[in-house]
Amino acid sequence: MVILERSDFSKLFKLLKEQGYQIIGPTVQNEAIVYDELDSPEDLPVGVLDEQSGGHYSLKQTRESHLFSYVVGPTSWKRFLHLAELTLWTAKKDGDKLHIQAENSKAPRYAFLGVRACELAAIDIQDRVFLQGEYIDPHYQKRRSNIFTIAVNCTRPGGACFCSSMNTGPKAKQGFDLSLTEVYRKSQHYFVLESGSKKGEALLAALNAPAAEETQIAEADRALEKSAEKMGKEMPVEGLKEVLERHFEHPYWEEIAKRCLNCANCTMVCPTCFCTTVEDVTDLTGDVASRVRRWDSCFTVDFSYIHGGSIRASGMSRYRQWMTHKLARWQDQFDVNGCVGCGRCITWCPVGIDITEEAAAFRKIDKKARKRQKKLAS
Ligand code: SF4
Ligand code: SF4
Repeated sequence: MVILERSDFSKLFKLLKEQGYQIIGPTVQNEAIVYDELDSPEDLPVGVLDEQSGGHYSLKQTRESHLFSYVVGPTSWKRFLHLAELTLWTAKKDGDKLHIQAENSKAPRYAFLGVRACELAAIDIQDRVFLQGEYIDPHYQKRRSNIFTIAVNCTRPGGACFCSSMNTGPKAKQGFDLSLTEVYRKSQHYFVLESGSKKGEALLAALNAPAAEETQIAEADRALEKSAEKMGKEMPVEGLKEVLERHFEHPYWEEIAKRCLNCANCTMVCPTCFCTTVEDVTDLTGDVASRVRRWDSCFTVDFSYIHGGSIRASGMSRYRQWMTHKLARWQDQFDVNGCVGCGRCITWCPVGIDITEEAAAFRKIDKKARKRQKKLAS
Protein backbone atom coordinates (compact mmCIF):
# COMPACT_ATOMS: atom_id res chain seq x y z
CA MET A 1 0.00 0.00 0.00
CA VAL A 2 1.19 3.49 -0.78
CA ILE A 3 0.16 7.01 0.13
CA LEU A 4 -0.75 9.54 -2.50
CA GLU A 5 -1.04 13.07 -1.18
CA ARG A 6 -3.87 15.16 -2.60
CA SER A 7 -1.26 17.53 -3.99
CA ASP A 8 0.10 14.60 -6.05
CA PHE A 9 -3.26 13.26 -7.22
CA SER A 10 -2.79 14.71 -10.69
CA LYS A 11 0.17 12.30 -11.12
CA LEU A 12 -2.37 9.47 -11.33
CA PHE A 13 -4.17 11.29 -14.15
CA LYS A 14 -0.90 11.94 -15.94
CA LEU A 15 0.16 8.29 -15.81
CA LEU A 16 -3.20 7.00 -16.98
CA LYS A 17 -3.18 9.42 -19.90
CA GLU A 18 0.38 8.43 -20.81
CA GLN A 19 -0.84 4.83 -20.98
CA GLY A 20 -3.52 5.88 -23.45
CA TYR A 21 -6.50 5.75 -21.12
CA GLN A 22 -9.50 8.03 -21.39
CA ILE A 23 -10.40 8.74 -17.77
CA ILE A 24 -14.07 8.41 -16.83
CA GLY A 25 -15.28 9.36 -13.39
CA PRO A 26 -17.75 11.39 -11.34
CA THR A 27 -18.67 14.90 -12.47
CA VAL A 28 -21.49 17.23 -11.50
CA GLN A 29 -24.04 17.58 -14.29
CA ASN A 30 -27.66 18.65 -14.05
CA GLU A 31 -27.34 18.76 -10.26
CA ALA A 32 -26.36 15.11 -10.01
CA ILE A 33 -23.22 12.96 -9.94
CA VAL A 34 -22.79 11.73 -13.50
CA TYR A 35 -19.95 9.55 -14.79
CA ASP A 36 -18.24 11.27 -17.69
CA GLU A 37 -14.84 12.14 -19.09
CA LEU A 38 -12.34 13.74 -16.70
CA ASP A 39 -9.33 15.77 -17.66
CA SER A 40 -7.87 16.56 -14.24
CA PRO A 41 -8.73 16.08 -10.54
CA GLU A 42 -10.35 19.53 -10.63
CA ASP A 43 -13.13 18.03 -12.78
CA LEU A 44 -14.14 15.81 -9.85
CA PRO A 45 -16.99 17.02 -7.61
CA VAL A 46 -14.66 18.78 -5.14
CA GLY A 47 -16.30 19.36 -1.76
CA VAL A 48 -19.64 17.96 -2.92
CA LEU A 49 -21.93 15.92 -0.65
CA ASP A 50 -25.14 14.16 -1.63
CA GLU A 51 -28.39 13.53 0.18
CA GLN A 52 -30.46 10.54 -0.81
CA SER A 53 -33.66 8.92 0.38
CA GLY A 54 -36.79 7.43 -1.21
CA GLY A 55 -37.62 9.63 -4.22
CA HIS A 56 -35.16 12.31 -3.13
CA TYR A 57 -31.70 13.32 -4.37
CA SER A 58 -29.80 16.54 -3.89
CA LEU A 59 -26.22 17.75 -3.93
CA LYS A 60 -24.67 20.19 -1.53
CA GLN A 61 -21.54 22.22 -2.27
CA THR A 62 -19.44 22.60 0.88
CA ARG A 63 -16.30 24.65 1.47
CA GLU A 64 -14.32 21.45 1.99
CA SER A 65 -12.06 19.94 -0.65
CA HIS A 66 -12.68 16.19 -0.33
CA LEU A 67 -13.03 14.47 -3.70
CA PHE A 68 -15.19 11.39 -3.04
CA SER A 69 -17.58 12.16 -0.18
CA TYR A 70 -20.77 11.54 -2.18
CA VAL A 71 -21.96 8.11 -3.27
CA VAL A 72 -23.52 6.85 -6.47
CA GLY A 73 -25.64 9.02 -8.78
CA PRO A 74 -28.20 8.03 -11.41
CA THR A 75 -25.65 6.83 -13.97
CA SER A 76 -23.67 3.65 -13.55
CA TRP A 77 -20.72 2.12 -15.38
CA LYS A 78 -23.04 -0.04 -17.44
CA ARG A 79 -23.52 3.07 -19.54
CA PHE A 80 -19.98 2.49 -20.88
CA LEU A 81 -19.93 -1.31 -20.97
CA HIS A 82 -23.48 -2.24 -21.98
CA LEU A 83 -24.50 0.70 -24.17
CA ALA A 84 -27.98 2.16 -23.84
CA GLU A 85 -28.23 2.16 -27.63
CA LEU A 86 -26.14 0.18 -30.09
CA THR A 87 -26.56 -0.19 -33.85
CA LEU A 88 -25.86 -3.86 -34.47
CA TRP A 89 -25.71 -3.56 -38.24
CA THR A 90 -26.65 -1.24 -41.07
CA ALA A 91 -27.74 -2.37 -44.55
CA LYS A 92 -27.41 -0.04 -47.54
CA LYS A 93 -28.97 -0.52 -50.95
CA ASP A 94 -26.65 0.14 -53.86
CA GLY A 95 -28.56 -0.50 -57.09
CA ASP A 96 -29.33 -4.22 -57.05
CA LYS A 97 -26.80 -4.89 -54.34
CA LEU A 98 -27.14 -4.77 -50.58
CA HIS A 99 -24.15 -3.94 -48.36
CA ILE A 100 -24.41 -5.02 -44.74
CA GLN A 101 -22.04 -3.46 -42.25
CA ALA A 102 -21.93 -5.11 -38.84
CA GLU A 103 -20.99 -3.12 -35.73
CA ASN A 104 -17.20 -3.23 -35.54
CA SER A 105 -16.18 -0.06 -33.76
CA LYS A 106 -13.00 -0.11 -31.69
CA ALA A 107 -13.57 -0.27 -27.95
CA PRO A 108 -12.38 2.82 -26.08
CA ARG A 109 -9.54 2.38 -23.61
CA TYR A 110 -11.25 3.59 -20.47
CA ALA A 111 -9.88 4.09 -16.98
CA PHE A 112 -12.85 4.08 -14.62
CA LEU A 113 -12.02 6.27 -11.63
CA GLY A 114 -14.25 6.14 -8.56
CA VAL A 115 -15.93 2.74 -8.89
CA ARG A 116 -17.66 1.94 -5.60
CA ALA A 117 -17.55 -1.56 -4.11
CA CYS A 118 -21.24 -2.16 -4.89
CA GLU A 119 -20.55 -1.14 -8.48
CA LEU A 120 -17.68 -3.61 -8.78
CA ALA A 121 -20.15 -6.26 -7.65
CA ALA A 122 -22.61 -5.02 -10.30
CA ILE A 123 -19.94 -5.26 -13.02
CA ASP A 124 -19.17 -8.78 -11.83
CA ILE A 125 -22.87 -9.63 -12.18
CA GLN A 126 -23.01 -8.23 -15.69
CA ASP A 127 -19.88 -10.26 -16.50
CA ARG A 128 -21.81 -13.38 -15.51
CA VAL A 129 -24.69 -12.36 -17.76
CA PHE A 130 -22.71 -11.30 -20.82
CA LEU A 131 -19.51 -13.30 -20.62
CA GLN A 132 -20.06 -16.45 -18.63
CA GLY A 133 -23.26 -17.91 -20.02
CA GLU A 134 -23.91 -19.99 -23.08
CA TYR A 135 -23.86 -16.88 -25.29
CA ILE A 136 -21.17 -14.25 -25.08
CA ASP A 137 -22.00 -10.66 -25.94
CA PRO A 138 -19.11 -9.55 -28.18
CA HIS A 139 -19.93 -5.85 -27.75
CA TYR A 140 -19.73 -6.03 -23.97
CA GLN A 141 -16.70 -8.31 -24.17
CA LYS A 142 -14.56 -5.94 -26.21
CA ARG A 143 -15.40 -2.93 -24.04
CA ARG A 144 -14.94 -4.82 -20.79
CA SER A 145 -11.53 -6.24 -21.70
CA ASN A 146 -10.07 -2.75 -22.11
CA ILE A 147 -10.90 -1.26 -18.73
CA PHE A 148 -8.55 -0.09 -15.99
CA THR A 149 -10.57 0.07 -12.78
CA ILE A 150 -9.82 2.36 -9.85
CA ALA A 151 -12.15 1.64 -6.96
CA VAL A 152 -12.98 4.13 -4.23
CA ASN A 153 -13.85 2.76 -0.82
CA CYS A 154 -16.90 4.47 0.67
CA THR A 155 -16.17 6.36 3.87
CA ARG A 156 -19.53 8.15 3.84
CA PRO A 157 -22.42 5.91 2.78
CA GLY A 158 -25.58 7.44 1.35
CA GLY A 159 -29.07 7.48 2.81
CA ALA A 160 -30.28 4.77 0.42
CA CYS A 161 -27.21 2.50 0.60
CA PHE A 162 -27.33 -1.06 1.93
CA CYS A 163 -24.20 -2.69 0.50
CA SER A 164 -23.28 -4.06 3.94
CA SER A 165 -26.44 -6.20 3.89
CA MET A 166 -25.66 -7.46 0.40
CA ASN A 167 -22.05 -8.13 1.38
CA THR A 168 -20.79 -6.01 -1.52
CA GLY A 169 -19.22 -3.06 0.34
CA PRO A 170 -18.32 -0.51 1.60
CA LYS A 171 -14.75 -1.73 1.00
CA ALA A 172 -13.78 -3.02 -2.43
CA LYS A 173 -12.34 -6.50 -2.04
CA GLN A 174 -11.82 -7.66 -5.63
CA GLY A 175 -12.37 -6.76 -9.25
CA PHE A 176 -10.21 -3.63 -9.32
CA ASP A 177 -6.77 -2.71 -10.60
CA LEU A 178 -6.29 -0.07 -7.93
CA SER A 179 -8.37 0.86 -4.91
CA LEU A 180 -8.15 4.03 -2.91
CA THR A 181 -9.43 5.22 0.43
CA GLU A 182 -9.61 8.96 0.90
CA VAL A 183 -8.53 10.31 4.28
CA TYR A 184 -9.63 13.89 4.72
CA ARG A 185 -8.92 15.86 7.87
CA LYS A 186 -8.43 19.58 8.30
CA SER A 187 -4.65 19.21 8.27
CA GLN A 188 -4.34 16.07 6.14
CA HIS A 189 -5.65 14.98 2.80
CA TYR A 190 -4.27 11.79 1.31
CA PHE A 191 -5.28 8.53 -0.34
CA VAL A 192 -4.29 5.02 0.70
CA LEU A 193 -3.74 3.14 -2.55
CA GLU A 194 -3.71 -0.60 -2.97
CA SER A 195 -3.19 -2.66 -6.11
CA GLY A 196 -5.55 -5.49 -7.08
CA SER A 197 -3.90 -6.69 -10.29
CA LYS A 198 -0.61 -6.76 -12.16
CA LYS A 199 -1.68 -3.69 -14.15
CA GLY A 200 -2.44 -1.92 -10.88
CA GLU A 201 0.88 -2.94 -9.38
CA ALA A 202 2.74 -1.54 -12.37
CA LEU A 203 0.89 1.75 -12.10
CA LEU A 204 1.59 1.97 -8.37
CA ALA A 205 5.27 1.40 -9.03
CA ALA A 206 5.26 4.12 -11.69
CA LEU A 207 3.65 6.53 -9.21
CA ASN A 208 6.71 6.21 -7.05
CA ALA A 209 4.71 7.12 -3.95
CA PRO A 210 5.87 6.42 -0.37
CA ALA A 211 4.72 3.26 1.40
CA ALA A 212 1.76 3.77 3.72
CA GLU A 213 2.58 3.90 7.43
CA GLU A 214 0.63 1.71 9.82
CA THR A 215 -1.10 4.70 11.40
CA GLN A 216 -2.25 5.91 7.98
CA ILE A 217 -3.66 2.48 7.09
CA ALA A 218 -5.36 2.29 10.50
CA GLU A 219 -6.93 5.72 9.91
CA ALA A 220 -8.36 4.55 6.56
CA ASP A 221 -9.63 1.28 8.09
CA ARG A 222 -11.35 3.17 10.90
CA ALA A 223 -13.15 5.38 8.38
CA LEU A 224 -14.39 2.27 6.56
CA GLU A 225 -15.56 0.56 9.74
CA LYS A 226 -17.55 3.65 10.70
CA SER A 227 -19.00 3.76 7.22
CA ALA A 228 -20.31 0.18 7.48
CA GLU A 229 -22.08 1.16 10.71
CA LYS A 230 -23.73 4.20 9.11
CA MET A 231 -25.52 2.51 6.18
CA GLY A 232 -28.75 4.32 5.32
CA LYS A 233 -30.71 1.07 4.86
CA GLU A 234 -30.52 -2.62 5.49
CA MET A 235 -32.01 -5.65 3.82
CA PRO A 236 -31.22 -9.00 5.43
CA VAL A 237 -31.18 -11.47 2.55
CA GLU A 238 -30.91 -14.76 4.40
CA GLY A 239 -33.99 -16.77 3.37
CA LEU A 240 -35.50 -13.83 1.47
CA LYS A 241 -35.69 -15.82 -1.78
CA GLU A 242 -37.86 -18.46 -0.10
CA VAL A 243 -40.04 -15.80 1.56
CA LEU A 244 -40.79 -14.17 -1.79
CA GLU A 245 -41.43 -17.52 -3.45
CA ARG A 246 -43.86 -18.56 -0.70
CA HIS A 247 -45.91 -15.40 -1.21
CA PHE A 248 -45.86 -15.10 -4.97
CA GLU A 249 -49.67 -14.82 -5.06
CA HIS A 250 -50.06 -12.61 -1.99
CA PRO A 251 -52.42 -9.61 -2.35
CA TYR A 252 -49.67 -7.32 -0.97
CA TRP A 253 -48.19 -7.22 -4.50
CA GLU A 254 -51.33 -5.29 -5.50
CA GLU A 255 -50.65 -2.80 -2.69
CA ILE A 256 -47.23 -2.04 -4.14
CA ALA A 257 -48.71 -1.87 -7.66
CA LYS A 258 -51.12 0.87 -6.50
CA ARG A 259 -48.09 3.06 -5.80
CA CYS A 260 -45.90 2.01 -8.71
CA LEU A 261 -46.11 4.19 -11.81
CA ASN A 262 -44.46 1.59 -14.05
CA CYS A 263 -42.10 4.36 -15.16
CA ALA A 264 -39.11 1.95 -15.40
CA ASN A 265 -36.77 4.41 -13.64
CA CYS A 266 -35.63 1.71 -11.23
CA THR A 267 -34.45 -0.52 -14.07
CA MET A 268 -32.74 2.29 -15.97
CA VAL A 269 -30.65 3.36 -12.96
CA CYS A 270 -29.96 -0.16 -11.71
CA PRO A 271 -26.36 -1.19 -12.46
CA THR A 272 -27.27 -4.86 -12.80
CA CYS A 273 -30.41 -4.70 -15.00
CA PHE A 274 -29.45 -5.84 -18.49
CA CYS A 275 -32.62 -6.28 -20.55
CA THR A 276 -32.74 -4.95 -24.09
CA THR A 277 -35.06 -4.80 -27.05
CA VAL A 278 -34.10 -4.93 -30.71
CA GLU A 279 -35.71 -2.74 -33.35
CA ASP A 280 -35.29 -2.59 -37.12
CA VAL A 281 -35.53 0.91 -38.56
CA THR A 282 -35.30 2.31 -42.09
CA ASP A 283 -34.69 5.81 -43.36
CA LEU A 284 -37.35 7.65 -45.36
CA THR A 285 -35.88 6.66 -48.74
CA GLY A 286 -35.95 2.97 -47.86
CA ASP A 287 -32.29 2.66 -48.97
CA VAL A 288 -30.83 2.28 -45.47
CA ALA A 289 -31.98 -0.08 -42.74
CA SER A 290 -30.46 -0.65 -39.31
CA ARG A 291 -30.94 -3.02 -36.45
CA VAL A 292 -30.68 -1.20 -33.14
CA ARG A 293 -30.41 -2.65 -29.66
CA ARG A 294 -31.73 -0.51 -26.81
CA TRP A 295 -32.06 -0.89 -23.07
CA ASP A 296 -35.54 -2.06 -22.23
CA SER A 297 -37.33 -2.72 -18.99
CA CYS A 298 -39.55 -5.41 -17.51
CA PHE A 299 -41.82 -2.53 -16.50
CA THR A 300 -42.99 -1.93 -20.07
CA VAL A 301 -46.03 -3.86 -21.35
CA ASP A 302 -44.28 -4.58 -24.64
CA PHE A 303 -41.30 -6.22 -22.98
CA SER A 304 -43.20 -9.46 -22.37
CA TYR A 305 -45.18 -9.28 -25.63
CA ILE A 306 -45.43 -12.48 -27.58
CA HIS A 307 -47.94 -13.22 -30.37
CA GLY A 308 -51.37 -12.42 -29.01
CA GLY A 309 -50.45 -10.21 -26.07
CA SER A 310 -48.24 -9.48 -23.12
CA ILE A 311 -47.46 -12.11 -20.54
CA ARG A 312 -47.23 -9.49 -17.80
CA ALA A 313 -50.18 -7.27 -18.61
CA SER A 314 -50.73 -5.82 -15.11
CA GLY A 315 -48.53 -3.39 -13.24
CA MET A 316 -48.60 -5.80 -10.31
CA SER A 317 -47.12 -8.63 -12.36
CA ARG A 318 -44.40 -6.34 -13.68
CA TYR A 319 -43.30 -5.07 -10.25
CA ARG A 320 -43.40 -8.64 -8.93
CA GLN A 321 -41.29 -9.81 -11.86
CA TRP A 322 -38.68 -7.14 -11.16
CA MET A 323 -38.40 -7.72 -7.41
CA THR A 324 -38.52 -11.51 -7.51
CA HIS A 325 -36.03 -11.59 -10.38
CA LYS A 326 -33.59 -9.42 -8.40
CA LEU A 327 -33.91 -11.30 -5.14
CA ALA A 328 -34.87 -14.85 -6.10
CA ARG A 329 -34.77 -15.97 -9.76
CA TRP A 330 -31.40 -14.30 -10.30
CA GLN A 331 -29.88 -16.76 -7.84
CA ASP A 332 -31.21 -19.67 -9.93
CA GLN A 333 -29.84 -18.12 -13.12
CA PHE A 334 -26.54 -16.61 -12.05
CA ASP A 335 -25.82 -17.95 -8.54
CA VAL A 336 -25.93 -14.49 -7.06
CA ASN A 337 -28.46 -11.86 -6.00
CA GLY A 338 -29.41 -9.38 -8.72
CA CYS A 339 -29.17 -6.53 -6.22
CA VAL A 340 -25.91 -5.08 -4.90
CA GLY A 341 -27.42 -2.57 -2.46
CA CYS A 342 -26.49 0.63 -4.30
CA GLY A 343 -29.84 2.22 -3.43
CA ARG A 344 -30.37 3.86 -6.84
CA CYS A 345 -33.82 2.35 -7.37
CA ILE A 346 -34.93 3.81 -4.03
CA THR A 347 -33.58 7.30 -4.69
CA TRP A 348 -34.77 7.54 -8.28
CA CYS A 349 -38.22 6.03 -7.83
CA PRO A 350 -40.48 9.07 -8.23
CA VAL A 351 -42.87 7.73 -5.59
CA GLY A 352 -40.16 6.46 -3.26
CA ILE A 353 -40.88 2.73 -3.45
CA ASP A 354 -38.12 1.14 -1.42
CA ILE A 355 -36.99 -2.43 -2.17
CA THR A 356 -35.70 -2.83 1.42
CA GLU A 357 -39.06 -1.82 2.89
CA GLU A 358 -40.96 -4.09 0.50
CA ALA A 359 -38.66 -6.98 1.40
CA ALA A 360 -39.29 -6.25 5.08
CA ALA A 361 -43.06 -6.18 4.44
CA PHE A 362 -42.88 -9.66 2.91
CA ARG A 363 -40.88 -10.90 5.87
CA LYS A 364 -43.67 -9.67 8.17
CA ILE A 365 -46.29 -11.34 5.99
CA ASP A 366 -44.29 -14.56 6.10
CA LYS A 367 -43.85 -14.42 9.87
CA LYS A 368 -47.60 -14.00 10.35
CA ALA A 369 -48.40 -16.81 7.92
CA ARG A 370 -46.03 -19.17 9.73
CA LYS A 371 -47.48 -18.30 13.10
CA ARG A 372 -50.97 -19.02 11.76
CA GLN A 373 -49.84 -22.35 10.32
CA LYS A 374 -48.21 -23.32 13.61
CA LYS A 375 -51.38 -22.48 15.50
CA LEU A 376 -53.49 -24.55 13.12
CA ALA A 377 -51.09 -27.47 13.37
CA SER A 378 -51.11 -27.50 17.19
S1 SF4 B 1 -32.14 -3.28 -7.24
FE1 SF4 B 1 -31.88 -1.15 -6.58
S2 SF4 B 1 -30.43 -1.23 -4.86
FE2 SF4 B 1 -30.31 -3.19 -5.94
S3 SF4 B 1 -28.62 -2.95 -7.41
FE3 SF4 B 1 -30.51 -2.38 -8.51
S4 SF4 B 1 -30.71 -0.16 -8.21
FE4 SF4 B 1 -29.18 -0.88 -6.73
S1 SF4 C 1 -40.91 0.97 -8.58
FE1 SF4 C 1 -40.74 3.23 -8.75
S2 SF4 C 1 -39.13 3.56 -10.27
FE2 SF4 C 1 -39.78 1.42 -10.49
S3 SF4 C 1 -41.36 1.45 -12.08
FE3 SF4 C 1 -42.42 1.65 -10.11
S4 SF4 C 1 -42.64 3.87 -9.78
FE4 SF4 C 1 -41.08 3.60 -11.39
